[in-house]
Amino acid sequence: MIPSIELYPILFFLFGSIVGSFLNVVIWRVPRNESIIAPPSHCPSCNTHIAPYDNIPMLSWLILGGKCRQCKQEISSRYFIVEFITGLLTVLMVSTYGISNELYINLILVYMLIAITYIDFDHYIIPNEFILMGIGVVFAAHVFEWLPITIMEGVYGALTFGGFLFGIGQVGSLILKKDSMGFGDVKLGLVLGGLLGLELAVLALFLSFIISALFTLVGVTLFKMEGKGKIPFGPFMAAATVVVFLTRTAGGGNSILNWYFTTMF
Ligand SMILES: [Zn+2]
Repeated sequence: MIPSIELYPILFFLFGSIVGSFLNVVIWRVPRNESIIAPPSHCPSCNTHIAPYDNIPMLSWLILGGKCRQCKQEISSRYFIVEFITGLLTVLMVSTYGISNELYINLILVYMLIAITYIDFDHYIIPNEFILMGIGVVFAAHVFEWLPITIMEGVYGALTFGGFLFGIGQVGSLILKKDSMGFGDVKLGLVLGGLLGLELAVLALFLSFIISALFTLVGVTLFKMEGKGKIPFGPFMAAATVVVFLTRTAGGGNSILNWYFTTMF
């Protein structure tokens, strides 16, 4: 039986939240070099195996009041948040792209970027597993011509996004006499630029810096965030790319670019 069309957003949200539940495992285990398949989920505190009925996305966290059933140790609200965000972004991506090959490619990237965001905040690294997978997905998308851009536009996008970050890193390390921009960001820039093409890569690069500046400003003024001297850049590249994905207009344009060019010229 085919479910009625009004149910689709709910189904996509549920699907996304299940993916989010898997991303929580990825976020915890990949930077610790643990297998993401075995062993099955266990409480990080008391090591008790988590029963399937206590592992339902979002719902279990709410029912258990954010605590482990066995040891009552608090379970981070992050588990709930990641599942919710992944569900929400899945619905938004489907409504932007419809069911299409472009949706599948961009949605895989969105899922990767959610994991990268949290791992980079926690550990200041973007594991190479993600870079390799990203290169594979973007390369395949170009080979099968699933993207609205040519492979050369992808190459220019990759060189622009990755190259600009590399350049900033070089300048930064000359001035600060230490590494300011991690090489992980450069590699992620190559992947994202290759997917977006030149025009959207420039937009995503620009938005990364805007979002990073806003985040720092709000963090310092409202939350008295202490400068740890180190803020990862990957999360802002991720947020910027998601914004670019979701502002796509029918026909492959972008509403931010359209707005910019009609107001400025
Ligand atoms: Zn426990």
